[in-house]
Amino acid sequence: MKKNTPNSAFSFSKIYCSLFGHDYLISKNVTHHIKEYTCSHCGEQATTNSRGRLEVMTPKLKEINNALASVHAKKLAKADPKTQFQAAS
Ligand SMILES: [Zn+2]
Repeated sequence: MKKNTPNSAFSFSKIYCSLFGHDYLISKNVTHHIKEYTCSHCGEQATTNSRGRLEVMTPKLKEINNALASVHAKKLAKADPKTQFQAAS
């Protein structure tokens, strides 16, 4: 008797991706220019690197993105004029 391997569908996705390429969907906006992507077939993650090119996600890149995201959020909060000028007018 043969057992059904539960990850047979998963490895098929990998083969599909290696033949036709990953189907990346945006999973997170880090900044206006940097985004994180997840492949809808195999779940592989990628991100835009500092040169604006797509790169496979690594723990180091994830760390950089998290830092960029928090800096970006602070910039957005500072740049919002409504919070500063509402009291004066
Ligand atoms: Zn894929």
